Amino acid sequence: MTHSLVQFTYVVATALFVFSLHWMNDPKTARRGVFAGVAAMLLAVIATWIQPEVVHHGWIIVAIIAGFVVGIPLSMVPLTAVPQRTALSHAFGGLAAGLVGTAKYYLWLGEGGAELTAFRMTAIIAEILLGFLTFTGSLMAAGKLQELKWIPQRPVTYPGQNVTNIGLLIVAAVIGIMLIVSPTAAWAPKLFPVVIGLALVFGVLLIIPIGGADMPTVISILNSYAGLSAVAMGFVLDNKLLITAGALDGSSGLILSIIMCRAMNRSFANVLFGAFGQVQTAKQLGEGKVYKPETIEGASQVLEQANLVVIIPGYGMAVAQAQHKVRELYDQLKKRGVTVKFAIHPVAGRMPGHMNVLLAEADIPYTDLVEMGDINPDMPQCDVALVVGANDVVNPVARYDKTSPIYGMPIIDADKAKTVYAIKRSKNPGFAGIDNELYFSDKTWMLFGDAKKVIGDLVKQLTDSGGIH
Ligand code: NDP
Repeated sequence: MTHSLVQFTYVVATALFVFSLHWMNDPKTARRGVFAGVAAMLLAVIATWIQPEVVHHGWIIVAIIAGFVVGIPLSMVPLTAVPQRTALSHAFGGLAAGLVGTAKYYLWLGEGGAELTAFRMTAIIAEILLGFLTFTGSLMAAGKLQELKWIPQRPVTYPGQNVTNIGLLIVAAVIGIMLIVSPTAAWAPKLFPVVIGLALVFGVLLIIPIGGADMPTVISILNSYAGLSAVAMGFVLDNKLLITAGALDGSSGLILSIIMCRAMNRSFANVLFGAFGQVQTAKQLGEGKVYKPETIEGASQVLEQANLVVIIPGYGMAVAQAQHKVRELYDQLKKRGVTVKFAIHPVAGRMPGHMNVLLAEADIPYTDLVEMGDINPDMPQCDVALVVGANDVVNPVARYDKTSPIYGMPIIDADKAKTVYAIKRSKNPGFAGIDNELYFSDKTWMLFGDAKKVIGDLVKQLTDSGGIH
């Protein structure tokens, strides 16, 4: 009876996980998606807990309390820290899978080893390899994103790096195969920790050649490793929900990283081995070119007389936390009958959906958020493109300069607007480390300063002028 109830609850939880992911596709249903995910996880925990095989209820309570103690502070991190927070969650998931695999191996070995079939051993080896490499890899990724001083942000490369990494993985795989073939041999319990050690080291080595800002893509890949280790854990524990939930996790992580790579026109190999952000291959445009600064008064006059203003937010808006001021500017312009749209580039900011989340936080109607592909045809009709802390995603060099690291990346056609105002603090480049041709264009004017301050000043100017035309 309990068995049927548990299996039925697992089916309901799986369905809720699937719907949760589906509902996340649209801002209108995203909230429902979150609730469905939480409900699914709750059902999964309860259904697992009520099984008669569970004898140590005390330990489960301790684990739940520990989860709350870690989880509640994690849920309070600022939005800009969400990528590293996500990496930490994957690290915990990987560690849990790795530890369960290890415990199961030694438990079954202690019982004589009859349970250690080739199938189970294959699942255990996959689980510990993926679990432990996800653990250290995700910790490194979180550390890089958090800009911890003792972890270099820039890619660390050395000759023969890829050969070393792949060699290490091959050694781990060979020992793994030996363990699958002879799990109860006298040497087996001694070699098992070697696989764990190699997986832990591999996780670190995998991440050090990758630049800090490439981490969100890598985290998404690590997400899929964590999912796959959960699938392997499901096979080890004979738990169908772990298999389906892990598969959903693994595939969604993979799909997300593919979407991100496509939006940056990069390949997986380039993200993992490209050491992006280390070498500047593109020629510097900056020398000899001049930026034309504009005043707040001048910019606000042009803005209020425009018919169509397209605001293009980027990473700088997130850094400045300028979204609420952007909302005030939006309101001021709307009051004057100006059509205001937001152009959303899929990799603006540092995580997928970064701009959408910030703008939603400021209650900007999502009907005014327009995806890159839909806004670009309207850009020639746009009177003012207001670039708020975006750089690479509006750099026209991506269209034609084959030597540029962002060559081929689709961009928002800000340069096709009649006038461009660009807000940033300095002449420093963006994530890709290259100058932006847009800023030197005849029709571009710079509003130097922190985005929150500059937008705030624009709002003040518009409020003071008050003139509704
Ligand atoms: P960029 O990193 O290219 O540029 C951000 C700009 O914001 C900088 O030029 C910076 O200039 C400015 N800035 C920073 N802080 C402030 C501030 N407080 N006020 C005003 N301006 C500020 O960002 P984009 O959004 O244009 O592009 C994102 C980049 O990140 C792309 O190259 C993308 O490939 C990459 N990426 C994105 C991921 C994602 O999932 N979204 C994942 C991985 C990488 P200054 O210092 O002068 O102020």
